[in-house]
Amino acid sequence: MVPLVRSFLAPNPGPLTLDGTRSYLVGDDPVAIIDPGPRIESHISALAEAVRPASEIVILLTHAHDDHAAASARLAHRTGGSVHGPGGDHDLGDGQVIATSVGDLVAVATPGHARRHFCFHHPDTASIFVGDLIMGKGDTTWTGEYLGAVADYLRSLDRLDALAPRTLHPAHGPPIPDAAATIARFRAHRLERIEQVRRAVATGHAGAPAIARHVYGPLPPKIRTMAEAGVDAILDYLSGAE
Ligand SMILES: [Zn+2]
Repeated sequence: MVPLVRSFLAPNPGPLTLDGTRSYLVGDDPVAIIDPGPRIESHISALAEAVRPASEIVILLTHAHDDHAAASARLAHRTGGSVHGPGGDHDLGDGQVIATSVGDLVAVATPGHARRHFCFHHPDTASIFVGDLIMGKGDTTWTGEYLGAVADYLRSLDRLDALAPRTLHPAHGPPIPDAAATIARFRAHRLERIEQVRRAVATGHAGAPAIARHVYGPLPPKIRTMAEAGVDAILDYLSGAE
């Protein structure tokens, strides 16, 4: 018997992907492939091979970042599956139901890490595939893609919480058994960052580069650019909160 959920780890480890991107297969036929991952041939082949017996294949994207979505066109071509979600051929709506052989998945609009980001709720097992809204390690994810990201992110965490999941399946890192405590930890961390930025401004630091240096200390260039964008998103959040 095929397990309910199978996960395939792509060989793309890094500071933003932890040990790599995890692609998930839910069910066998119909089967849903959540986040086909980076365009790495060995990973695409492993996924294509695993779904080969299926006649109904749906490829779902949590968001359009390359480490999640770059393999989608190639995998669709190899398997005959259709691609749904941000950047895919078919759009997704909040609450949209995707059938699998082990019960429905429900798309939950959860912007914040990306302007368009979906989690996929599997009510039968009280689990949620969370994409990059929650990472499998630590207490933070990047929320600097656009102004408005921070308020969206906090609302998205509340939405996850309201679904009362038992288990979270992140796109990076191992499954998370203590869902409620983890959501609370990510929320607390974000609120703490907001408070740090508020205090930096109050003590005379001006502009994202200076505030990021004050809050995070020295960072490598790529990470620094992302941290500064994150500070900009927090400044925008603070200006809306006044
Ligand atoms: Zn990612």
